[in-house]
Amino acid sequence: MPPLPPSLIVCSDNGSLSLGRCPVLPTFRPLEAEIRTTFIPALLRRNVNDLERDLLGLPARYGGMGILDPTLECDFAHANSLLISAPLVRLILRQESDFDPVELEISTKEIRKHIDKLCDEKYKERARNISLHATEEIKQSMKLSTEKGASSWLTCIPSFEHGTILHKGDFVDAVSLRYGWRLSDLPANCACGASFDVRHALDCKLGGYRTIQHNEVRDLLAQWVIL
Ligand SMILES: [Zn+2]
Repeated sequence: MPPLPPSLIVCSDNGSLSLGRCPVLPTFRPLEAEIRTTFIPALLRRNVNDLERDLLGLPARYGGMGILDPTLECDFAHANSLLISAPLVRLILRQESDFDPVELEISTKEIRKHIDKLCDEKYKERARNISLHATEEIKQSMKLSTEKGASSWLTCIPSFEHGTILHKGDFVDAVSLRYGWRLSDLPANCACGASFDVRHALDCKLGGYRTIQHNEVRDLLAQWVIL
């Protein structure tokens, strides 16, 4: 079998090699248009502006939701694919039948570490740029979202056993709270007469919600003392 030209070899996420030409940017524009105009409005029940779209494209640990923009990611992903598959490609081009799998594993791990570092730098830079043009509310939400564990609910595996299942309405509300967006279907005014928003819902003395919050903290502390 003659050696394959490198441009025809594509490495998949699981490390296997397949044949095909590397994707090019225009191919992904219709996909991004569908994500922006169909997927995100269906998922979040709202349209997003350019800055919000960029923000949602960041990984959760940088304040986004991991809804990657394929037009921004494809070149980088392709470059990484070439990097990670380079040791295998070299073996294929040399047509060698004997090789040390341990050595290959070590070199692949090294490359993976390098790629992870590149990804981190890229997303940090992108988050900095978004923050520069963001409203104070979004800046604040980005800051809070990057705190340790603050975005775990977005990346954990849904499980009834561990209480990590969110229904559609809960999910949309949680995302709205994360980004400081107004929740849908809120009444204009509270029963106490003040105008109603999330902050007022947490602070209002009418209805006993503040007492419930207080009691929950008290009960939790009491449980810890017993333990
Ligand atoms: Zn009130």
